Amino acid sequence: MDRDISCCIIKDLLPNYVDRLTSEETNNIIENHLKTCSVCSKERDEMMEQVEIEQDTKAKNQSFKQYLSKTKMMYLLKGALLSFGIIGIIVTFIVDLAVNKRLSWSLIVDMGILYSYSVGLTAVMSKKQKGIKAFAVGSILVLPMLHGIEYVININYMTEPVSWFSRYALPITVIWLAILWITVLIKKIIKLNIWNVLGVLLIMTIFGSVLTDSIAQQISVKQVYTSGYEWIDSISYAACALLFFIIGTIRKNRNRLH
Ligand SMILES: [Zn+2]
Repeated sequence: MDRDISCCIIKDLLPNYVDRLTSEETNNIIENHLKTCSVCSKERDEMMEQVEIEQDTKAKNQSFKQYLSKTKMMYLLKGALLSFGIIGIIVTFIVDLAVNKRLSWSLIVDMGILYSYSVGLTAVMSKKQKGIKAFAVGSILVLPMLHGIEYVININYMTEPVSWFSRYALPITVIWLAILWITVLIKKIIKLNIWNVLGVLLIMTIFGSVLTDSIAQQISVKQVYTSGYEWIDSISYAACALLFFIIGTIRKNRNRLH
């Protein structure tokens, strides 16, 4: 009889107990009873499970709500940015048509808008590695953009078309993109400090500028140094690189001492 009453009381207390609303003294009484009573402890287990499920769904709802408000903001931001871009493009088209009675410079302006929007949106929208992704999009899109600019200039402004893209712009851009990408990869993979990375960049700049000169003047690489004063550039790049390597080494040693 005494045991039955006790079970009754425990059953009344259990909801508060699983919600952790009961006092320590009450907890002791309940837990002592639970040790000896399998019926009540089974009840407790079931209640605990229920509470856990409720808490779980609550947490899920919370994060889902947060996710929704975040995506809503993102959609708004995307929408606003895109409409600004589209308005910009339409305005240049209208102004160009009104002024020149045909499309001439607006195509170049619009390519520039599209280019910076693609790079900017990639940076804003990507979750990880924002800088790298934006840089990749920029590197890829710069080539068709330059080609487009050549096309527009040749169509609208040249009496005789000049093919500067494939002869100059393409190889020179590829060389500098390669140099920048190698620098980025060195920073990411080898994790050199920034001064040493700048040193490596300057060393590559020596080769980059020699190749650029030889392409721009349409001569062989060997002739670059005999034809002008490009060696002064190379020496100053090398001196700067050396300076950066020294600073980098000093920094590294200082960090190690600390
Ligand atoms: Zn009991």
